Amino acid sequence: MAGITAVEPGADAGSEADFGLNTGGSPPDVERRYRMLASATGMHYSVVARQVHGTHILEADASSGSGSSVIGEADGVVTSARGVLLAVTAADCVPVFIVDLGGRCIALLHAGWRGAAGGILEGGLSLLADRFGVQPGDLTIYLGPSICGSCYEVGVEVLRAFRRDAAGPERLDLRAELAEKAVESGVPAERVVRSQWCTRCGPVHLHSHRARGEKAGRMAAFLGLVPGTQRALDPGGAGWELR
Ligand SMILES: [Zn+2]
Repeated sequence: MAGITAVEPGADAGSEADFGLNTGGSPPDVERRYRMLASATGMHYSVVARQVHGTHILEADASSGSGSSVIGEADGVVTSARGVLLAVTAADCVPVFIVDLGGRCIALLHAGWRGAAGGILEGGLSLLADRFGVQPGDLTIYLGPSICGSCYEVGVEVLRAFRRDAAGPERLDLRAELAEKAVESGVPAERVVRSQWCTRCGPVHLHSHRARGEKAGRMAAFLGLVPGTQRALDPGGAGWELR
């Protein structure tokens, strides 16, 4: 079970399409949206962390809550518990969906440039190996809707974080950078799939911080192991299901 929430044009921060813990409005309203998301996807409950553009990753287990829970400060969540819907929020940053083909565990990460450069993807892969004994070769990864390489111009300090020598601002493709890191870490290249959707330039309307600034809401990307199944995903990535 994987997806990202839809956004109608004009639905900005504070709207029903905003899942941001800081932008979405009153905490009870935001919590209600997460409860609805869990129930609409047939999951027992959802968990989301307070994102800080870091590399810390938490584990959610079957006792993490009911309805919806904010489980701490982190930019990623892993679980092996069925029925727990992991969620991360994004509005240009990359939601990174990581699934064990054997159906044993999943990870969902929020990767902006800081997290990507800081190694959140590699950290997620290490955690899955340490905690669940699942190796990079067992995984499939989907790099979800986020700002594209043409729309994302960044300064030299960001480029340096990716070991790029630059005299001035240049464009950066975060999904390409993350895909390279995944393959270098041992995930088979044919199982690292990149969304073609850009939060800023389309083809579908999504929340974009670059496009809307402080008015931007946040999508919830979500991923969960469906209760009562032990289904593995299609290795080619065709098992990904959006919207
Ligand atoms: Zn774009």
